[in-house]
Amino acid sequence: MSETNPAPLSTIELFGKKITFLDLGKEVGPDIPVYPGHMKTAFWWHKTHEETKFSLGEASKYPYGFGVKGIVTCDHTSTHVDAVYHFDPSKSHLSVDKITLPELITPSAWIDLSFVTGRVHITLDAVKKALDNAQVTLKPGMTLLYWTGIEPYSISEPNRYLTQYPGLNKEATTWLLDQGLVNIGTDAPSLDTPADLDYPNHTVHAEREIIHTESLVNITKIPKHNDFCVGFFPLKFVGLTGSPCRAFAFWEE
Ligand SMILES: [Zn+2]
Repeated sequence: MSETNPAPLSTIELFGKKITFLDLGKEVGPDIPVYPGHMKTAFWWHKTHEETKFSLGEASKYPYGFGVKGIVTCDHTSTHVDAVYHFDPSKSHLSVDKITLPELITPSAWIDLSFVTGRVHITLDAVKKALDNAQVTLKPGMTLLYWTGIEPYSISEPNRYLTQYPGLNKEATTWLLDQGLVNIGTDAPSLDTPADLDYPNHTVHAEREIIHTESLVNITKIPKHNDFCVGFFPLKFVGLTGSPCRAFAFWEE
């Protein structure tokens, strides 16, 4: 099944090369489904344009005023990066503001695991089959993206989206991190299937101190399975366990 979001592509000339960027992230807002138990996002006017215009008074010729909104959200809402601190309370030194740029801007590859459906484990055999199908070789320093096919249900069937996706088992995620990956990303709300309350991915990523990225979109719109890079830009929220992020893939034309 194809994904629901459009695939906004932009080509930008950088350092004399034509680089195409593809958005891999969702919006952050009150209507985005949240992981069971997490808080929803709320926005409100802290100061409207009218209010600030009034307080500037007649001494100012500035015609508009300055609109400012407040935000309440969960640090794991929408497309987001999980800091290592999210997985293990003893890792407070690895909160989201401490994630380094070489973990966030990397060479990448993507694989299709949508043949694994429902609340089951993704085995190492399945991962190797998907890597073979895509003719992808993993290298240290890379980010691997995997597509489960659950994302198209995020708006039309949010309950299905939040509960009916597979997750890597312990052997698969351990093997992937053994290849030297610095980040794993998926379209699913979590790397761990909700059917396994032992959370093998969160456990192994805590031990290895490796981040991961959840609720991506447009993975299947990346034209090649490798020869591209990804960028994830979580905000530097001090001491938080994750952050919604701007996410994108990019490649040279
Ligand atoms: Zn998360």
